[in-house]
Amino acid sequence: MNVLVINCGSSSLKYQLINSDSEEVLAKGLCERIGIDGGMLTHQPAGKDKIKTQVDMPSHTVAVELVIKSLTDKENGVIASLSEIGAVGHRVVHGGESFAESVVIDDAVMKAIEDCNDLAPLHNPANLIGIRACQELMPNVPMVAVFDTAFHQTMPKKAYFYGLPHEYYEKYKVRRYGFHGTSHSYVSKRVAEILGKDYTSLKTIVCHLGNGASISAVMNGKCVDTSMGLTPLEGLIMGTRSGDLDPAILGFIAGKENLTLPEVTDVLNKKSGVLGLSGVSSDFRDLEAAAKDGNQWAIDTLDTYYYRVAKYIGSYAAAMNGVDVIAFTAGVGENNPPGREQIVSYLGYLGADVVPEKNNCRGEERVISSDQAKVTVMVVPTNEELAIARETVRLV
Ligand code: AMP
Repeated sequence: MNVLVINCGSSSLKYQLINSDSEEVLAKGLCERIGIDGGMLTHQPAGKDKIKTQVDMPSHTVAVELVIKSLTDKENGVIASLSEIGAVGHRVVHGGESFAESVVIDDAVMKAIEDCNDLAPLHNPANLIGIRACQELMPNVPMVAVFDTAFHQTMPKKAYFYGLPHEYYEKYKVRRYGFHGTSHSYVSKRVAEILGKDYTSLKTIVCHLGNGASISAVMNGKCVDTSMGLTPLEGLIMGTRSGDLDPAILGFIAGKENLTLPEVTDVLNKKSGVLGLSGVSSDFRDLEAAAKDGNQWAIDTLDTYYYRVAKYIGSYAAAMNGVDVIAFTAGVGENNPPGREQIVSYLGYLGADVVPEKNNCRGEERVISSDQAKVTVMVVPTNEELAIARETVRLV
């Protein structure tokens, strides 16, 4: 079966068409600037160059129409007609407490996703728009919602409660949810497969270090803690997000800089993280280059970033009373050997190490610790689209 995987943002839409039998990506692409002038469609059939087309996309429905047109195009298409799409898998960011698993989308599911809009005001409305656009154009094709939060729903209360008056939880569901769940689930399972171990008897810490970054503790096949919270702002220092900080800083900066709380929150989301601290870039390639050139802010930013990751690993080893595997994934985790080495250098007390020759790899599945290490350290490239396609096939 061919599964169309859709990841819809407020003004963008990423897609992949995956053959679920061979798990081959037939084509992938991106619609940018939906609803804004200067729209751009990038379509890439497997094994061919990217085709970029400037085209205005006044709505998400138009964008999905263009995606279908590209997929069925005589020259650069990969299927003959729409009927060759057997199902659509949608990434949905927030499932709140309603969804601990992926679900086949019906009216009740749409309503429940809408009920979570408050918890992810930037993402969930966009995800719903993407689903509706696909339903309009493919009314008879089954659709599945795969939630970023679902994998973390197994966290115990002690991991998801904040030290806040409990009426905020009761009234507004203010608690920790966690994100990147599809990636944490995929990577932790893949770790067990690669090592030939039983998933339900492993203690794994997954470090998803991308532009957004989060860590999870997966014990006996269940997530028991993760670093993102009510929103993706909590936890690690990220590309542009601050991660953990003293909450009193919000009011302090608001007063000093004459900003409203939403404006400060915007700074914490978009102008902080390694971008804000270094003053250089949110991209680790730029940071590494600046650090090599002796830029002290870039050097200190990298040190601060890796130190935070190491502290979280330590706390999750404590939460699970041990750790068998530490897995690095996502852009930085997969492609940055010096970063992995620096993080693991804090973890000798756990019995973790990194062999430089093994660690000298990018984007490939590999054990990078020594044979004697008590904790296996690995690189496992994530594949959220494939995980969504697998979930979709499982449910339809
Ligand atoms: P992601 O959000 O998973 O796509 O990760 C994006 C981030 O990965 C970028 O902002 C870069 O900082 C980082 N990244 C990607 N490729 C490399 C690389 N070759 N070396 C270092 N960092 C990289």
